[in-house]
Amino acid sequence: MPLPSAANATPSMAQWFDLKNQEPEALLFFRMGDFYELFFGDAQAAAMALDIALTARGNHNGEPIPMCGVPVAAAPAYLSRLIRRGFRVAVAEQTQTPQKGQKGPLSRAIVRVVSPGTLTEDELLEAGRANLLLAIAHNGQKRSTMIGAAWIDISTGAFETTSVQATALEELLARLDAAEILADPDLIPPDHAARLAPVPSSPTAETARSLVARAYGVAQVDALGDFPDEQAIACAMALSYVQRSQAGALPRLSRPVPQGISGVLGIDPATRASLDVLRTRDGETKYSLFGAVSRTVTAAGSRLLSQWLASPSTDASEIVERQAAWVWLLDVPGLCGSVSDILKRTPDPARALGRISSGRGQPRDLASIRDTLIAANDFTALLQPVCDTKTPPLIRALVAGLYGRADSLLDRLKAALAPDLPPKIEDGGVIAPGFDPELDHFRNLRDESRRIVAALQVRLSEQYGISNLKIRHHAQLGYVIEVPSAAGTKLRDKPELAFRQGTASLARFSNDELADLDRAILEAADKASTLEKRIFSELCSHILSTPALDEVAEYLALADVLLGCARLAEGGEWCRPEVTDGTEFELISCRHPVVEAAIAEAGNPEARFIPNDCALPPEHRAMLLTGPNMAGKSTFLRQTALAVILAQAGLPVPAKKARIGIVDRLFSRVGGADDLARGRSTFMVEMTETAAILNQAGPRSLVVVDEIGRGTATLDGLSIAWATLEALHTQLGSRTIFATHFHELGALVEFLPRLAAYTMAVKEWRGEVIFQHEVRPGAARKSWGLHVAKLAGIPTSVVNRASKLLTSFEKEQAHARASLPLFDAIVDGSDVTESALSENASSMDLVNAVSALKPDELSPREALAALYELKRIL
Ligand code: ADP
Repeated sequence: MPLPSAANATPSMAQWFDLKNQEPEALLFFRMGDFYELFFGDAQAAAMALDIALTARGNHNGEPIPMCGVPVAAAPAYLSRLIRRGFRVAVAEQTQTPQKGQKGPLSRAIVRVVSPGTLTEDELLEAGRANLLLAIAHNGQKRSTMIGAAWIDISTGAFETTSVQATALEELLARLDAAEILADPDLIPPDHAARLAPVPSSPTAETARSLVARAYGVAQVDALGDFPDEQAIACAMALSYVQRSQAGALPRLSRPVPQGISGVLGIDPATRASLDVLRTRDGETKYSLFGAVSRTVTAAGSRLLSQWLASPSTDASEIVERQAAWVWLLDVPGLCGSVSDILKRTPDPARALGRISSGRGQPRDLASIRDTLIAANDFTALLQPVCDTKTPPLIRALVAGLYGRADSLLDRLKAALAPDLPPKIEDGGVIAPGFDPELDHFRNLRDESRRIVAALQVRLSEQYGISNLKIRHHAQLGYVIEVPSAAGTKLRDKPELAFRQGTASLARFSNDELADLDRAILEAADKASTLEKRIFSELCSHILSTPALDEVAEYLALADVLLGCARLAEGGEWCRPEVTDGTEFELISCRHPVVEAAIAEAGNPEARFIPNDCALPPEHRAMLLTGPNMAGKSTFLRQTALAVILAQAGLPVPAKKARIGIVDRLFSRVGGADDLARGRSTFMVEMTETAAILNQAGPRSLVVVDEIGRGTATLDGLSIAWATLEALHTQLGSRTIFATHFHELGALVEFLPRLAAYTMAVKEWRGEVIFQHEVRPGAARKSWGLHVAKLAGIPTSVVNRASKLLTSFEKEQAHARASLPLFDAIVDGSDVTESALSENASSMDLVNAVSALKPDELSPREALAALYELKRIL
């Protein structure tokens, strides 16, 4: 519904129009007493999205105004639903308390714009996931291909920035997986368009630099670091968006920390999608790699683990440092259990800090900080005695980073906070008795007066002879004497009593004494509450001026991830991989953690995961893998790629033994990749992805691909698969596993010296096919397509008919072979550098015939017969 004109609006609607115009793209939550109300199109959209009643309130230019409302107390739940559905919400609060006899509406202002990237409340956030607001910009110069990125997690205050080549932007977007993106829509690939926020155009580099400098109170942005223009612009965009979302106030943010991407394993978006690293394609974590390996017990640990898995390292020393730390935890008897007990008591300090800094801190956030500091002290008390000079550096850094970092704050919080905290500071009772004498004084005064009131009730009831006389507190009248209406008539003529109110059943009176007491109680309660709020905000300031807290939060998250690794490696099913700077690659008895877990969960006692070895030594760095569908090829490919991610993230690997020369870029193309939404056919997607591999893979990369060339006519597909495999093997020299249906590619083993053929073992038993899920040297003899079709439930009549057709096609093919002409030589010797596949179909027959020959095993006579046979095919 388009917004009607504001002309002739009532004063409060005029105020609504005014606020709405400040944030036209957001739904306006307009505070009216205990409700947030929405009007016009906002009301219609919200009523639909939230499934709440749409009504009308008053008229505007002769038309009823559509209206809906949500109670303030339940607002977080509604906000969360709206944000998840892609709305942004501007919250307008009353900025004035109602005054007696006030005319016109109370003044209101937008205090916050809530959007997916600017959330701070626990109710609105996913605990184990960073919630990033990402700004993308280029430096304004036409020829520059560098793109700047800056991302803020406002819930924890983390702020990072980097620059990438335009071609690497998609990879960065996939890695960061931001909740909201600020960018010129032209810069962003369509897949991410739904996360774009409406933003004004990006600032110039100069404006951006001064904006960032101002936000951090420094004269020059250089004081914060050396940022190229595109990064400065992206940082400024992110900062001003956050500022606007918090109505001008900037919450506590770290300085922008530049992130290099050179030390990170390159994983392009297609690979990420194919491997389900953090989430599966339907957004679930359960069957993702993260879901299978996460043993963390805190939300912050879970976020750090996601970060490690999303950006594994290429720095062997960093990886070895992480490994050494969890191996050490595992080696000290009983340590893991005690560390885990401590971490389970650790709240989420980073997010508590985020809320405190944005002025939305509540008593439990202060308790979070206190409990975090207690946990940090317990942790160091546990570790320090077992540390010595041989303790791994990361553990020693942990102990140093957590030891007594904010003891004076901790002492203060321990003394200040009451044992049972209410949810809100307004509820009172947050500060413990005995902490502040003045507060105690006012509270005593308040409580003492309440005791006097109780005594007064006894006295008055005796004095007037009314046994059920009560003194109660009434919202509007304050303290009153309350008696049943029959007794009320008796009191009406008492001169010392003032009649206040009567109902059918009750009469209410007051007297001077009660009025005085009422005033005293109110005053004392007011003073106590003001003072309590002041102490609370002093504690908040103390917290915010304790920079060590950030580090404590980070180190506890690190401790949690390391403990999770140790837990994973417990029991010996997962190993510490040996990572080297070479190009070796060997996995012994490796498993796919997600498929393995799914098999275990299914509970079939006969089913178990079959581990497989995978060796890609320099002399045999390419593996050709054949085997029927359902035999376990994709699982094998994926588990190999996942082992690299785990190893380079510093985690244990699900194998008996692993030795991995650092991989610089990982490419995985496994499973169907339809992109019909973007108007690209399966084949087009497949070719685009193959092109990406061929243009980027190098001698330190690992490439696992499944069925390249399946999306087109057989000969086209075979030729493409053939040429791709040759290029990977010979020109690019990547470690490669190439799974294929084209059995013809088996011939290449003869010509490509570093290619080895493997196949999935299959047994045939009484006409049934049994998949053994075992990778063995050799090539598949047949496809078993009809068996798989039968397994899948294709009706027997169709399978039988297909089987007959297959027999006759095979016969025809054998017959046709005899009459096909020969094609040119297909290979030029031992090392093929160029594809030489003829367009003629008979080429394959000849290749097959030649590759089947084993010259060393032939007698001269058999060799001669073979020559005649070749001539016959010719
Ligand atoms: P393909 O790619 O050859 O069609 P998949 O890798 O998709 O086959 O495997 C098919 C199914 O076989 C999987 O869903 C899994 O249940 C099972 N499977 C695969 N590999 C193994 C294994 N190593 N051990 C046990 N079961 C396996």
